[in-house]
Amino acid sequence: MSGGGPNVVREPRYAEVVLPVPVPRAYTYEVPTALVERVVPGSRVVVPVQRRQVVGLVVAVDVPAPDVPAKPIAAAPDGEPALSAALIELGRWIGSYYGAPLGLALRALLPGALWSVRRPAGPPEQAERVIVLTQVLPSLLERERAFRRAPQRRVGYEALEALGGSAPLRHLLDRLGLSRAVLDGLVKQRLARYTDVPRARDPFADLSSPPPPTLTEAQLGVVSGIAGTPADIPILIHGVTGSGKTLVYLELLRGVVASGQGAILLVPEIALTPQTVARVRGVFGDQVAVLHSGLSDGERADAWRALRRGERRVAVGPRSAVFAPVQRLAAIVVDEEHEASYKQGTVPRYHARDVALARARLEGARVILGSATPSLETLQLARTGRVCTFTLPERIGARPLPPVDVIDLRSAPRVAEARGIPWTEPLDHAVRGALARSEQVILLLNRRGFATYLQCPACGDVRDCPHCAITLTVHQTPRALRCHYCGHEEPIPAACRVCGKEIQRMRGLGTQQLEHFVSRRFPEARIARMDLDTTSTKWAHHRILERMAQGKLDILLGTQMIAKGLDFPNVTVVGVVDADTGLHLPDFRAGERTFQLVAQVAGRAGRGPKGGRVFVQTRAPDHPAIRAAAAHSVAAFAAAELPLRAPPNPAYPPHVGLARFVAVHEDERLAQEAAEGVAAWLRRANTERLGGALTVLGPAPCPIMRLKGRWRWHVLIKSPEARPIGRVVRAWGRGRAVAARGTVVVDRDPVSLL
Ligand SMILES: [Zn+2]
Ligand SMILES: [Zn+2]
Repeated sequence: MSGGGPNVVREPRYAEVVLPVPVPRAYTYEVPTALVERVVPGSRVVVPVQRRQVVGLVVAVDVPAPDVPAKPIAAAPDGEPALSAALIELGRWIGSYYGAPLGLALRALLPGALWSVRRPAGPPEQAERVIVLTQVLPSLLERERAFRRAPQRRVGYEALEALGGSAPLRHLLDRLGLSRAVLDGLVKQRLARYTDVPRARDPFADLSSPPPPTLTEAQLGVVSGIAGTPADIPILIHGVTGSGKTLVYLELLRGVVASGQGAILLVPEIALTPQTVARVRGVFGDQVAVLHSGLSDGERADAWRALRRGERRVAVGPRSAVFAPVQRLAAIVVDEEHEASYKQGTVPRYHARDVALARARLEGARVILGSATPSLETLQLARTGRVCTFTLPERIGARPLPPVDVIDLRSAPRVAEARGIPWTEPLDHAVRGALARSEQVILLLNRRGFATYLQCPACGDVRDCPHCAITLTVHQTPRALRCHYCGHEEPIPAACRVCGKEIQRMRGLGTQQLEHFVSRRFPEARIARMDLDTTSTKWAHHRILERMAQGKLDILLGTQMIAKGLDFPNVTVVGVVDADTGLHLPDFRAGERTFQLVAQVAGRAGRGPKGGRVFVQTRAPDHPAIRAAAAHSVAAFAAAELPLRAPPNPAYPPHVGLARFVAVHEDERLAQEAAEGVAAWLRRANTERLGGALTVLGPAPCPIMRLKGRWRWHVLIKSPEARPIGRVVRAWGRGRAVAARGTVVVDRDPVSLL
């Protein structure tokens, strides 16, 4: 096929290569004879672009010769294609559905390190630098002569000798405290040399826990029910908090792996704790590859390659693990499917749950969505029969869901010492009781920092971020005003910048101030705070959770980070200090988010035999989101919320599809003009080509009108049908649209309208 005798003049062959850039088309390159075997659809190639080289992906071969002379492909670093045909197809689907250029869609499918042209073969595989002694210096005299001017080198030499003549560089530098210069000196003196040896790079290798307990009857029922459902029907496991959904996933995946197939388990980043990894490894051992954002480039590439070669069968990870090159893929589990973190915030703006559904269709795999608080989108699919639901309505061991006391902050008696802090008598009493019984407490306040903002009591001025239309948050450790959107920081001013008044008032409660208050109120308690400010270092939040699990903490307080997946049987009191922090945001999902957050954190209580109780403090005790969360009832929430998103109210998902065009520019007028251009283009397309199937809203300033120094305007489109939305989003992505493309981003199925 590729041959031809020595006398046959070969016709040049061409391949279509997609580059990881925001350009809506592929480029044609000539395939050099030497690379014909390696250049196949899905393979990575190095190609010249202007005066540099880049890594691209082959999407088609034996394409017709282009009109202009084609440059040759420079290299094809891999022995086998990086992407399967199905994954290329998935990339095309993402590009088309989300209006992203194919190059950027495909870029998301491979680990970043595999796009580096400086190292086209990817990070060196499982290699570790080792230093080896090459010369023996048997006599003392020889040693003294060799190291007369360099006593440190002698220390290094003898350390290596003591280690049997060779040791990993890392060990010598990190553990023994030798300097690189000393070791380099040994090499320069020809007493030693560096060499690279293979090493398995798996930071989770030590984690394992005993095999999981046997399944309850309810769990077994779900497993067999799913086994009896055709694989092409997606499954929703709607199980209350503490019902043991993870055990069901693991049992299902065990069956998949036992039959020689592969699977993906998606979990929100925040829930990817060592405990989770250990549970999965307890079942699958070395068959698991964990794809965590904390991995180095090399570790990530190693995990990716092990999956690609079929050496590992199960991929566990957050959002991007939906692209794991698992071989013979038979199942994708999306745990906590309602989580907003499954949505990618940059191009391509995909939602991992929806990509999982698309990928499963392409590869004939089964999708299992799980949640205690499913998204309304998924509930709607379940209602209309497009998703098959299995429920786990009870906790393991028939433990009851904890009773929830809703406390009205407007009228409930407050603790006198609390002053401005919403700390009521009933919550205070419950926390005191739990501490007296050596039980643990979780306090949720979904707002970090010390105070929400700084306000001048005289003129009312509030300090805003100079780059974003957002108030600055007061932080005490370290002391500063900080923007939670762009990171801008400035000192807390001594006086008002407008009227000069010297006393500035802090308003609103943040986790730092809550911690401060709680530690004064309960001086004997061991307290830890968990929010973005305390968990910025690698594994920091796991260390906090470990202390909680070991009983070394009495009170864990924090933002939404503490609401997810934690399972501490000794937690008997959960307090939601202020349930209203997100309730009034100008976003149609504000109620849904609040419901999910309160219901999830309520589920952290009473997981052990001592039971538990939840206290929800709110100024809106009758809000359906709060009421439904207090009743642990998804059905009650859906019944209240779904009509609010349907006519005669403005329609919102799941009743309609939604896409958002955001125009962003440093110049306010240009942002507005770009948005007006988009809106005009959309309205024209709607009347001329779509028969008015779209509702076009805007342009209007975004609720967060300015972000990181750039102004933001948006246009929303809605339609009960997916097709007209898809058509304009695709047309936009192909770049046939208005000139202002560069400043406008399109976000289909947005998770936030802020
Ligand atoms: Zn003032
Ligand atoms: Zn800012």
